[in-house]
Amino acid sequence: MSHDHTPDDDGYNWPVCAACGRDLWTEELDRKSCRPCEDRAAGRLAELPQLFARLNTTAALMRGARRSGGGGTGSKTPPIPPRLEVLSLVGPGGVAARLQVIEDSWRSVLGWTVAPWRGSPAQAVPQLVKFLADNLLWACSSYEEVGQDVEELRLLHAEMKRAADGEHRPGRVKIGLCPVPRETGPCGTQLTARADSHRVHCSGCDSRWETLGEWRELRAAQEQVAEEAARQAAEQAEVAA
Ligand SMILES: [Zn+2]
Ligand SMILES: [Zn+2]
Repeated sequence: MSHDHTPDDDGYNWPVCAACGRDLWTEELDRKSCRPCEDRAAGRLAELPQLFARLNTTAALMRGARRSGGGGTGSKTPPIPPRLEVLSLVGPGGVAARLQVIEDSWRSVLGWTVAPWRGSPAQAVPQLVKFLADNLLWACSSYEEVGQDVEELRLLHAEMKRAADGEHRPGRVKIGLCPVPRETGPCGTQLTARADSHRVHCSGCDSRWETLGEWRELRAAQEQVAEEAARQAAEQAEVAA
């Protein structure tokens, strides 16, 4: 039996999936998009909240590092390099706005009122994802334009995953010397961080910093050590003079 459904054969265009373009199966003929496309979109939606939370924490570390780096203490400690793709995905025009566009179009086709304001992107994303997951079956069954939304979800998920996994990241960056006090003074081991990881480990004294709060403490301790070193250098210069 030929799988060749062309208008020339039987004067009829066999329906194709609005998302992937393959011929729909006979039992899918009442749908706009095939079941595998729906399943893939559902799987991506399920992963979005956690991906977003991860990117949001990374962005907070980038902003936190940048803020405390501008303290004017003379510390030359480089911050976690801010990565624009991360900051823009968690920002006001990022993931939340792009999911909102999809929700708005589904609501308008369904004849529902516009979605309520749902707060910051971090507050809104889980609710947007829930709306889309709850109505995905409807969209894949009945929504003519579902193909472009399924594709947008695929792209968004891929962008977030790439940003979270830190592809194209510039490897490890030096973030200053370990400030932990030892018998003879600060440990002084060079610390490094990766933009995709929130964990810093000192190979010299085995100290660890993982949370945003601990990062701030690390920053403050480094700046104290740097100030103390600057004060001692100034004293020595005075003595020499
Ligand atoms: Zn499909
Ligand atoms: Zn150390």
